[in-house]
Amino acid sequence: MNFNFTEEQQLIQQNAREFALEHLEPIAAEIDKTERIPKEIYQKMAELDFMGICYPAEYGGAGADFLSYTLVLEQICRSCASTGISLEVHASLACAAIYNFGSEELKQKYLVPLCKGEKLGAFALTEPGAGTDAGAAQTTAVLDGDEYVLNGTKCFISNGGVADVYVIFGLTDPTAGTKGISAFVVEAGLPGFEIGKHEDKMGIRGSQTAELIFKNCRIPKANLIGKEGKGFGIAMATLDVGRIGVATQALGIAQAALDEAVKFAKERVQFGKPIATKQAIQWMLADMATQLEAARLLVYSASMAREEGKPISKEAAMAKLFASEASDYICNKAIQIHGGYGFIKDFKVERLYRDSKITTIYEGTNEVQRMVISGAVLR
Ligand SMILES: Cc1cc2nc3c(=O)[nH]c(=O)nc-3n(C[C@H](O)[C@H](O)[C@H](O)COP(=O)(O)OP(=O)(O)OC[C@H]3O[C@@H](n4cnc5c(N)ncnc54)[C@H](O)[C@@H]3O)c2cc1C
Repeated sequence: MNFNFTEEQQLIQQNAREFALEHLEPIAAEIDKTERIPKEIYQKMAELDFMGICYPAEYGGAGADFLSYTLVLEQICRSCASTGISLEVHASLACAAIYNFGSEELKQKYLVPLCKGEKLGAFALTEPGAGTDAGAAQTTAVLDGDEYVLNGTKCFISNGGVADVYVIFGLTDPTAGTKGISAFVVEAGLPGFEIGKHEDKMGIRGSQTAELIFKNCRIPKANLIGKEGKGFGIAMATLDVGRIGVATQALGIAQAALDEAVKFAKERVQFGKPIATKQAIQWMLADMATQLEAARLLVYSASMAREEGKPISKEAAMAKLFASEASDYICNKAIQIHGGYGFIKDFKVERLYRDSKITTIYEGTNEVQRMVISGAVLR
């Protein structure tokens, strides 16, 4: 389908594709294997203005629209989903929370270097006892003079250990439930802020996922984002938009899986002909392409709605739900088309299948997305 992209959007998409093909595609398998994204990749993304692409120039961003960000993220995830999710957490979650809810002082101090790509961001909501039930968080933030004192543990935090700036959530009033949660900016390396366990994951292995441990970690009072007690709302609003990013990740992975399946089906000869001549294979490709196109429509239309400032809770949930399940389906079929080769690490589809799975889980599991959608439908 022709989405009538502007010239600027087409150029940004092309730049992202060229960057991904030149800098990510050749090393994506290595990133997966070594569980490390080279620093030069972040430097290159900063040079290309990808780190703050949809934020205003006055805050160090590129001033592009939200769909342009989606187009960049899709192309990056098409080549390396680990790099994609690292960028997504930085831009969709950390930068967004500070940009939408932070004071001017916080924006100048933290958002500007984040958008310029001089620093990397992370977003820490999840705790061992508070996953889907994020309101059950136990981390505390007690005001003591001009500082908040943080105590508690966050888990499964993307960019954990490699980020410089963390948006974290803690209880300023443990008696007030979700109304007692507040959001803060915490810098890496502060006394009392340690990185705990690094997770050994099924997929997106290049992306760091770590535990954050706060033991009497003191942060300036000015690092409160918004007002005390507004943290839960900040987290939910930020995740609403973030879900478009996860949907985009799934879209990029699914496109890559279809690309690989088509290539393989044309090249692999059995019974004297390419397997692409078999109707069984053609039907799988047809279903994969249809799922992919439907996912793309939902992702791009949610991105456009975001740009237009429309409510997007339902749209983002639908995009994430559909694109992530489509991606799982498409990656599964891509492996089937590869036969035994699809099960071997030399072939890209093996990694795509592993990278895809997380998109049905983080930034709200797909059960949560179904709750959001059914809530909107039943309203
Ligand atoms: C690789 C990775 C990266 C992550 N990155 C981040 C990050 O950067 N920042 C961050 O804050 N978090 C992050 N997370 C955490 C992620 O968002 C959570 O894992 C996710 O929200 C689910 O929480 P949980 O794992 O505790 O599962 P649980 O909440 O324990 O859920 C277990 C199962 O129960 C279902 N379930 C739970 N409650 C309900 C209900 N009410 N109704 C129906 N079903 C329900 C869930 O859908 C799921 O199927 C990351 C996780 C992973 C694995």
